[in-house]
Amino acid sequence: MKRLIKILALILVAVLAVCAVAGCSGKKTEKSSEKDSKKTIDYLVLVNKNHKLPDDWEENVVLKEAENRYGEKYLVEEKTLENFLALQKELADEGIIIELDSTYRSVAEQQKLWDDWTVEYGEDYVKKYVAVPGYSEHHTGLAIDICIEKDGKRINDNDEMIAEEEIFEEIHKHLADHGFILRYIKNGVAITGYDYEPWHFRYVGVDAAKEIAEKKITFEEYVGHLKAGK
Ligand SMILES: [Zn+2]
Repeated sequence: MKRLIKILALILVAVLAVCAVAGCSGKKTEKSSEKDSKKTIDYLVLVNKNHKLPDDWEENVVLKEAENRYGEKYLVEEKTLENFLALQKELADEGIIIELDSTYRSVAEQQKLWDDWTVEYGEDYVKKYVAVPGYSEHHTGLAIDICIEKDGKRINDNDEMIAEEEIFEEIHKHLADHGFILRYIKNGVAITGYDYEPWHFRYVGVDAAKEIAEKKITFEEYVGHLKAGK
């Protein structure tokens, strides 16, 4: 009998040890508590040539990896990605193919780009064509540049995309339902600092997106109205 108890006790110890190694109660809670420690981000954050990315943004944003049909991997904020995939699917049902072409870029990556290009092309050129590190909306993870595919050909050249007016007009009709806005609208350069970019979408949530689309205003104006309490 004593021997049996000893054997049972040994089995119990073994099971507990296996459990501890495999982390039966472990990894999931660890991960979710790591996520809990991140503060919720402000989906209406304004980042432009005059507004810097908040200092604590990069430590709080939750990024997810996604792969496009060309096998390229991208990081996108989790809610933004979820909504992009729904938008992409809805458009695919209409025969329009959109894909991720440029998404999250860290401040450090932007700094490297800035430094490399300064060496290669000089400061004047860089100041004109590269966003100052910390001042690009792509740092937020909430911005997505898309490309389109037409007749089996990927189109991601800026001028070629601008020429595809009809396709982009149709794509833009679907944005607000998924919480996206067209960030750099036609004739908005004086306010946004950027010329028309039919490919650059920004996630702001459905309510804000619908209001912005309805009023045909820039995001800067929308945030301005909010601050003024209008
Ligand atoms: Zn962009």
